[in-house]
Amino acid sequence: MTQGATQGATGVPGDGATAEAPSSIRSVTDRCTTQNYARYPVAFTHGSGCRLWDEDGREYLDLFAGLAVSSLGHAHPALVAAIREQAGKLLHTSNLFYHEPGARLAGRLVELTFADRVFFCNSGAEANEAAIKMARRASGGRFKIVSAHGSFHGRTYGALAATGQPGLQEGFGPMLEGFVHVEPCSADAVAAAVGDDTAAVIVEPIIGEGGVVVPPPGYLAALREICDRSGAKLILDEVQTGNGRTGRLFAYEHEGIRPDIVTTAKGLGGGLPIGAVLAREDVAAAFVPGSHGTTFGANPVCCAAALAVLDQLTDGGVIANAARVGDYFLAKLRDALAGRDDVVEVRGQGLLIGVEFRVETKPFVNDLLARGVVANATAGTVLRLIPPLILTEDEVDEGVSALLEVLP
Ligand code: PLP
Repeated sequence: MTQGATQGATGVPGDGATAEAPSSIRSVTDRCTTQNYARYPVAFTHGSGCRLWDEDGREYLDLFAGLAVSSLGHAHPALVAAIREQAGKLLHTSNLFYHEPGARLAGRLVELTFADRVFFCNSGAEANEAAIKMARRASGGRFKIVSAHGSFHGRTYGALAATGQPGLQEGFGPMLEGFVHVEPCSADAVAAAVGDDTAAVIVEPIIGEGGVVVPPPGYLAALREICDRSGAKLILDEVQTGNGRTGRLFAYEHEGIRPDIVTTAKGLGGGLPIGAVLAREDVAAAFVPGSHGTTFGANPVCCAAALAVLDQLTDGGVIANAARVGDYFLAKLRDALAGRDDVVEVRGQGLLIGVEFRVETKPFVNDLLARGVVANATAGTVLRLIPPLILTEDEVDEGVSALLEVLP
């Protein structure tokens, strides 16, 4: 920041805004941050439930949840109370010491899932990074990682190498060695790629960023068998599908399989940054003191938030809501869009829903935003709907009506 820069009406240092010309949140952000995000021209100031408000006081229906993160919506009282209480007690200790929220969250995740042990980090990419390291180290010299074309696993180097979208790797090469990409949602393609040198297969149970691509039933069970036969570890990237999004706590539950590793993040903290690697004892054993770590992992406030989220998801009935309202949303969309030539497919599970069009969906998302509905365009032609898991049927009706208004 230039020395002596003024602080304007918005309180954003350096914005030069005045009472007559308020709000340069957007212009200061554009001027002072790296330009790697294509932002919509809206600055949100607060939210409640599935509603958001912008700096001009306009109200929006949130069918996006900040990229599938705000699982309990905005300002959920139980989540806010848990964060406030923990923030007043202890913000940080580092992992050289024990603390109660970390112990309770690890215990709860072990109790609720297949996992014997949990490694905490801060994001989805970081969880995948740790999972790849864990799988390679647990495999005693095997190094190959098989993943799917069209997949998305994050932006750090290991996660980016696993990501099956060459466009995202452009200009950042060379990529990490040993990553192989195969046809998505095909167990046969995975079987053909797995060999004696394969450390792990990593897939999303539903491909999220890549267009909400739902594999055929039996896909995960088939991958489990392939991995069992070959000794490769099965890593499920549940960064997006986890934490109730598909109507179960984790998507692997739909197929009743036991993965070796599950990575998660996004909805786990309900809006605070926390990631986790859930692992079986034999793979978790690869992590010994000094082998991996992260300063902010298991942050006490993030852990307290995640505990409040898990309570609401399970005892509070939010997972059941995601399953019920998700079915309603899919049925309503299929009904409303039936017979349209420009719609290829309505698909998804729980509240991870994609509508594939024959045309680019970004213009629809812009028009929805102008009408006060926040949605997402992904993979070019897919409209992705990833609302808070507390969404109601009335809010679904409102969203579908708005969609019908913006479609040509
Ligand atoms: N994995 C999947 C399936 C994701 O959808 C994402 C983010 O969209 C990531 C990994 C990366 O997560 P993060 O952005 O928290 O690093």
